[in-house]
Amino acid sequence: MARVLSPELKRALASRLAYYRDMGIYDFYRRDLPAAASPKVPAGPAGVDLPDPPQGSIQPEQREEMSSRRAAVAVSASPKQSAFEVLTPRPEAGAGDPAQALKLIREDLGDCTRCRLAKQGRKQIVFGVGNPRAQLMFIGEAPGADEDLQGEPFVGRAGQLLTNMIAAMGLKREQVYIANIIKCRPPNNRTPERDECETCSPFLMRQIAAIRPRVIVALGAVAARTLLAINDSMSNLRGRWYEFAPTGVRSDDPSWTGARLAVTYHPAFLLRDPRQKKEAWKDLQMVMKELGLKVPAKAAE
Ligand code: URA
Repeated sequence: MARVLSPELKRALASRLAYYRDMGIYDFYRRDLPAAASPKVPAGPAGVDLPDPPQGSIQPEQREEMSSRRAAVAVSASPKQSAFEVLTPRPEAGAGDPAQALKLIREDLGDCTRCRLAKQGRKQIVFGVGNPRAQLMFIGEAPGADEDLQGEPFVGRAGQLLTNMIAAMGLKREQVYIANIIKCRPPNNRTPERDECETCSPFLMRQIAAIRPRVIVALGAVAARTLLAINDSMSNLRGRWYEFAPTGVRSDDPSWTGARLAVTYHPAFLLRDPRQKKEAWKDLQMVMKELGLKVPAKAAE
């Protein structure tokens, strides 16, 4: 039976939904509650708890716990698990064609000013590049100076190495999709702040849901920790598979429930410490096996 909401609660809900909408989060689901319980606010994206409110009312250590919990729940959630109800469609919902979906996500992102990076010297937004139907996706940290200038991820020195790594796998750069956790260059290439990642990553989640890759490779610790919500060292994160479902968004294709995710070293790190290329090559070979690609004998230079 429909629940009657008070005007005050309706206003609170509308303002909360507008906030999520502005963050690029569209899919909300209502989880069935025990009969006695009465919800004060809607369930958050993908049926998990609500994201943090906009004000700084939550301490950093609480945020850490909440983020990890949210990601963990989202990874295990499946459309069949409970009766979810979609309240607000994303612009790309039902687009069908991944290229069209990506276009709509890009339009929705607009000339983004959702975080401080918009005012800290970025020249342009670096959305992502590659095959909208890619089976393999690489996700880095953030655009650097070259990427900021050209509007394309991984086009500088680290990008050249990534292109070589892709070639060593027997693939062309155009066959895969490449993106970053955040889409704007941080000043002096500093590490992205947690809130910048949280503000930007819903758009990346929607890109992943549109592309529906079989495998995602997280390049470096920032990408791995953000995607997996695990704060661990690279040596612990590498060398195994993770089942990854984009947080807060469901794909149009019910047969795609997520990707397998592997972690490897960031190409910029490999430029600083080329001895680790051997290790990165092991990671890429693991990915190639998963994708059924023939493993050549020689490592990327
Ligand atoms: N480093 C990244 O993480 N991403 C880029 O696009 C370029 C360098």
